[in-house]
Amino acid sequence: MSEQSTVLKLGLEVGLQEAQEIDGQSRICNWLYNHLVEKGSQLKQEFLKSGNKESAMTLYSKRGLRNLLPSIKAENPFLKVVHSSPLKNTALRVTSAIQDYQKSRKGKRKGKQTGWPQFRSWKKGWFSLLYDEPNKGFKVKGQQLILSLGMGIDRKQRSVKLGIPDAGLLKGQTIRNLRIVCELGKYYAIFTIEKLLPKTKPISKVIALDPNHKNLAYGVDTDRKGIEIAAPKWLKIYDKRLDELKSKKDRCNKKAKKVSALNEKEEPTGKEYYLPSRKWKKRDNALKKALRKRREQTKTFMFTTAHALFKEYDCVAIGDYTPNGNGDNSIMRRAMNNRSVIGRFKETLSWVAAKSGKTFLEFDEKGTTRTCNCCHYVEPEGIPLEVRQWQCPICQAIHIRDENAGINGLRRVLRDLSKKNKGEYPSIVSGSDLSFVQKRWAWSVLPSGVLVIPRGQDGGFNHSSKKLKRGHDSPRSKVDYLTNLSQV
Ligand SMILES: [Zn+2]
Repeated sequence: MSEQSTVLKLGLEVGLQEAQEIDGQSRICNWLYNHLVEKGSQLKQEFLKSGNKESAMTLYSKRGLRNLLPSIKAENPFLKVVHSSPLKNTALRVTSAIQDYQKSRKGKRKGKQTGWPQFRSWKKGWFSLLYDEPNKGFKVKGQQLILSLGMGIDRKQRSVKLGIPDAGLLKGQTIRNLRIVCELGKYYAIFTIEKLLPKTKPISKVIALDPNHKNLAYGVDTDRKGIEIAAPKWLKIYDKRLDELKSKKDRCNKKAKKVSALNEKEEPTGKEYYLPSRKWKKRDNALKKALRKRREQTKTFMFTTAHALFKEYDCVAIGDYTPNGNGDNSIMRRAMNNRSVIGRFKETLSWVAAKSGKTFLEFDEKGTTRTCNCCHYVEPEGIPLEVRQWQCPICQAIHIRDENAGINGLRRVLRDLSKKNKGEYPSIVSGSDLSFVQKRWAWSVLPSGVLVIPRGQDGGFNHSSKKLKRGHDSPRSKVDYLTNLSQV
């Protein structure tokens, strides 16, 4: 067993009031950060002018700025509504920024030159709240994360409750610290957890997965098996339903009643905000419920697939390609969707691998599709997405698109593994042994497990299919594309 820390980022469900509460905490920490940056500049000037050693100690020692907190709190009592942990860590953050500047100035820090810390704008970036001590200032209870706030001037115990749907993943784990962040309007809890992990087992069976658009991934393994793992098609149905729910919600008026905001003493602060209408709240809840369901189903899908793979293999490797794009049209959205599915799948694989003492790898996928796995001919124009089967113009080998990519991927993985083990890696199979896949299977992942369907030698691909010669009349490519392919 070895000890290792892992980071787990879990989405939070935060109500309107709770959001205001933690936004307030973040704003105050942001204020403190700027206040300390300014204080730091003053201390620096003092030191430069007078050589005052005390100023230098406060400025450059690890806990110098942190030790100023009690007096800053006394001068600015509003700081007391924030728990001591995030406040302390805000001060440490300024110190660490100053130290980075010092190191960079003295050439002890790699990379770009770092300047003196700058003022931060809360509007531009939500200031994260770091609780660095286990269970100090936060607690996970069922599917709730309870954050302690500061006691305020009246020294009352306050807390805020946030929904944490995936709390189950923390079960039995030792939490080291917690950071609350907000990205694009969504809140997350990032836990660092201590893990006792089993030692990595030796590798004899390997599968290389080629993620793509048509299925979740196509895998080729060292037993010469090809496995097509079906994409979670039901996700699309969910997304359609989510779109409907969202547009319904957007169509109704959110603002209902203006109320004035109260401070800790229940006195009006002069600020006002709107309470959402009942109809809006109802629709918002329906949307949240559907989102939660989608997330749960996706998680089950991911874990079922990952467990099935690691039951079979010592090493699961996947191509590093992720389609990118941030457009808003439907094709882009689907691509993004696919990307996030693959992203989550990789996270799940790495998690399950670590827990079971197995190996997870990502391999460089560049060119795996366009390279003939038999003679290594590279099609300069690439293989168009709609072509599922093609013939190499040099060695005449007929390739199933995804399988050829999978074989090339597996070669790279075996190469990476032997490099990693400095050549002492047992050679599982030599390059030429992989020139064809002998058995093909289709996996459908159901909530109850994985349905495995044998596809036989030709996997449903009809090799006697007519050739569609494009080589002569098309300057694009020398490759022969075969038609009559997919009943798959
Ligand atoms: Zn070839």
